[in-house]
Amino acid sequence: MDLQELYRDVILDHNKHPRNFGHLDPCDSSADGNNPLCGDRLTVTLRMQDGELGEVCFEGKGCAISTASASLMTEAVKGKTLAEIAQLHELVHHTLTDTQAPIPKELGKLAALAGVREYPARVKCASLCWHTLAAALDHLQTEGESSPASVTTE
Ligand code: ZN
Repeated sequence: MDLQELYRDVILDHNKHPRNFGHLDPCDSSADGNNPLCGDRLTVTLRMQDGELGEVCFEGKGCAISTASASLMTEAVKGKTLAEIAQLHELVHHTLTDTQAPIPKELGKLAALAGVREYPARVKCASLCWHTLAAALDHLQTEGESSPASVTTE
């Protein structure tokens, strides 16, 4: 299966049947993400467990790529430590933005996202959920702040 086929199949599947779609209540942290260029909006809620991301959910409205990317992300980051998530975020970012980079095996199913490299305008759609998750995780470490974290792509 070539990259474009994989891209189409995985994006269609996860857009139609998003995994971990919903809202955790109570949650340890949450963040809102907004991509005004496309109109994608999503909210990530999460719960930590023993230093790992125990549960993570997302909800919102967006294009197929933003929804599928968030769905894939929640599957990929569950059960990982903050350091592992930061590493994966870095890997995804690199894969999405460097059109010459080989696609790392460690990405697993997330490799399908590399298909957006062909469409630079959609990279923000695919990366919105990752920025939003990072904001929620940052928020986790700044105790005492009560307003929810939010992030807008530029
Ligand atoms: Zn979008």
